[in-house]
Amino acid sequence: MIHTSLSIVGGGPAGLCAAIEASKRGVDSILFERFDQLGGQLVKQTHKFFGSQRQYAGTRGFDIASKLERELHESNQCQTKLNTTVVGMYPNHVLTVSGPEGYQKIQSEAIIVASGASERYLVFENNDLPGIYGAGAVQTLMNQYGVLPGKRVVMVGSGNIGLIVSYQLLQAGVDVACVIDAAPKIGGYLVHASKLRRRGVPIQTSRTILRAEGKSQVERVITIGLDQAWRPIPGTEETLECDLLCLAVGLSPLTQLLSMGGASMRQIQELGGVVAVEGNEGQTTLEGIYVAGDAAGIEEASSAMVEGRIAGIRAAMQLGHGLPDDNHTLQQLEEELQGLRRGPFGAKTRIGLDKLREEKHA
Ligand SMILES: Cc1cc2nc3c(=O)[nH]c(=O)nc-3n(C[C@H](O)[C@H](O)[C@H](O)COP(=O)(O)OP(=O)(O)OC[C@H]3O[C@@H](n4cnc5c(N)ncnc54)[C@H](O)[C@@H]3O)c2cc1C
Repeated sequence: MIHTSLSIVGGGPAGLCAAIEASKRGVDSILFERFDQLGGQLVKQTHKFFGSQRQYAGTRGFDIASKLERELHESNQCQTKLNTTVVGMYPNHVLTVSGPEGYQKIQSEAIIVASGASERYLVFENNDLPGIYGAGAVQTLMNQYGVLPGKRVVMVGSGNIGLIVSYQLLQAGVDVACVIDAAPKIGGYLVHASKLRRRGVPIQTSRTILRAEGKSQVERVITIGLDQAWRPIPGTEETLECDLLCLAVGLSPLTQLLSMGGASMRQIQELGGVVAVEGNEGQTTLEGIYVAGDAAGIEEASSAMVEGRIAGIRAAMQLGHGLPDDNHTLQQLEEELQGLRRGPFGAKTRIGLDKLREEKHA
C-alpha cells in the first residue's frame, strides 16, 4: 500500500488547479491521469478561450494546459502518474489504480475527484455505422493526431461544443453540410453561430436525426423536423449526403468512483446527470473526499479551474496546511465562480446547484 496526504483523480483543468493549490501549501500529493498527457479536454482545444481574463480568456486551450502543467511542476510537491487509471474507491480513503507499475493500492488522508465527463450518444436507426463519432472523438482525431475524420459532416447539436467543432472541421477543410438541433433555438454563443453562418453553414433548429444509411459506413443521414412537443413531423424528412456524422449532444459527469465509494448521489438534469450531494466544508457526504470540475456538474473549463482551486485549498486546510488568509482567498474564489455563472448561459447551472443544495438540507 502506498501512502500519501492527498490523491487527485484526473489531470484536466480542475485536477491540475487543485494540485497547484495543494502543492503551494506544502501538501504531498499524487495526481493520477489515465492518459499519457496532462490537460484533460484542454489539450485538444485549439480555439482561444472565452470567459474571464483570470481563467485565461483569449488563450488557446492547449496553451492553458501547458501553463498549468508548468505551474504544477514548479512546486515540486506533487507526483504525477500518467497512463494510470483509478479503478476503485474503498472505505478509509483507499483507491486502487492500474498503470505502468501494475495494480496498486493508495491510501491518502484526502481525495479530490476531478474525473471530468463522458460524451452522450443518441438513439436512432443505424447509430453504430462507422463514421458516426462524438465531438470529443472528432477533436481528438483532428487536433491531437492530425487525422481528418471525413470529407463532409452533419453536426448534431448547436451548443458551444457543436458550433466550435463545426468551425474547426471547416478550418481543416471538411465540408459542413448542416448543423441541426432538436431544441427550438441555438444552444451556444451567437458569436460561434455567426462564424458558421458567415461561411454559409445552415443551422436548423427543431430538427433531429431519424436514421443513418450506408453499406459499410455512413453515406447519408435522414433528418426530420420536430413539433413544439419535440415529436417528429411526418413529411418533413430531408436526406443529407455525408461520410461523417458528429454528435455534440452533451456530456455526463463521470462520478462512478464516488458512487462506488458510497457518497450520496442525485440525478440533477441541469448539471448533466448523477452528481455528488455536498457535505460539510465543500466535501462530498464522505469526509475528506472532494469533487471539482465537470465531475461536479457540467460547466466550462473556467469554472472547472476555480472549483479545482477551491477543492485544493479546502483539502490543504483540512490537512492542516492552510495559509493565514485562506478563508479570504476562498471567499474571492466563490465570488469568481458566481460571476462566471451569471447571465443567461449560467441559468441552467444555477438551477441545478439550487436543486443540489435542497438535497443537502433534505
Ligand atoms: C469542443 C469543446 C470546446 C470547449 N470550449 C470551451 C471554452 O471555450 N471555454 C471553456 O471554459 N470551456 C470549454 N470547454 C469545456 C471544458 O473543456 C471542460 O468543461 C473542462 O475541460 C472540464 O475540466 P475537468 O478538469 O473537470 O475535466 P476534463 O478536462 O475532462 O479532465 C478530466 C481528466 O480526468 C481524467 N480521468 C477521468 N477518469 C479518470 C480515472 N478514473 N483515473 C485517472 N484519470 C481519469 C481524464 O482522462 C481527463 O484528463 C469545451 C469543451 C469541449 C469538448
